[in-house]
Amino acid sequence: MSLDAFRMPGTFYRGNLHTHSNRSDGRLEPEEVCRRYSERGYDFLCLSDHFMAKYGFPITDTRPWRTNSFTTLLGAEVHAPAIQNGEPWHILAVGLPEDFAPTAADETGPALARRAAATGAFVAIAHPEWYGLTMDDARTLDDVPHAVEVYNHTSEVHEDRAGGAYLLDALLSEGRRLTTIAVDDAHFKVTDTPDSDAFGGWVMVKATANGPEALLAALKAGHFYATQGPEFRDLSIEGGALHVACTPVQRVMAVGRPPKSERVAGAALTRATLPLEKFKGSWVRIVIVDAAGKRAWSNPIHLD
Ligand SMILES: [Zn+2]
Ligand SMILES: [Zn+2]
Repeated sequence: MSLDAFRMPGTFYRGNLHTHSNRSDGRLEPEEVCRRYSERGYDFLCLSDHFMAKYGFPITDTRPWRTNSFTTLLGAEVHAPAIQNGEPWHILAVGLPEDFAPTAADETGPALARRAAATGAFVAIAHPEWYGLTMDDARTLDDVPHAVEVYNHTSEVHEDRAGGAYLLDALLSEGRRLTTIAVDDAHFKVTDTPDSDAFGGWVMVKATANGPEALLAALKAGHFYATQGPEFRDLSIEGGALHVACTPVQRVMAVGRPPKSERVAGAALTRATLPLEKFKGSWVRIVIVDAAGKRAWSNPIHLD
């Protein structure tokens, strides 16, 4: 039987959940950021400016730039003191109300994440590798976050610290139910060069409409996958095996509680079947890699 996102009615909509404008430390006006994503074929965008006192705690209003074919979710990257290494928390909150109250002076990162989630937002652990977030840090968030950034494009381009799989997989193995997002975190400080920090990682969200409410509900329900380009066509479980259909790739990998894995390799695979025995009682997620090295990541599938 196909997994939820592939079984339910609707369309896969392409969106970037993490981006900055000049309402915080990005270079471009919000209107121009929306224009660029729309022009590039994205269906939706969350402009997630830094929710900090020095920027006036912005929830950047992108509603004026919604069109028939492009929508926006309001949100922010919220900050509070402090992770173990002394850096402020970076927590992505997609779907915040426009009147989300400024961070209180004594508010901790976990309290802020909880407050964001309580408004109905989709809350994610941002770029854990980039700023050295530890497992002990992540555990203090309890079961508040919905997702971990498994790929942050700006951290890839600027620091070669794009990843989040190490933290994600450790949290999954401790029983947390988390989903997997890829984001740009674009600031457009470097553009139109091979160093561009935009259009490198996104989510494909299955929803019945390209509207903020439907997209937010689908995100929280896990009806999406993350990608740099390759597309999943179907994921199903039948006869004790996982069946993958996708755009042409060279590797299809199933990864579970480290170091459990299975793999199929080939020249231009569009279908693969992977045995599930070793993941029983736990979780597994699928990663596909195309000839250009671009990856896509399914959400974790729980087999308990
Ligand atoms: Zn950040
Ligand atoms: Zn950011």
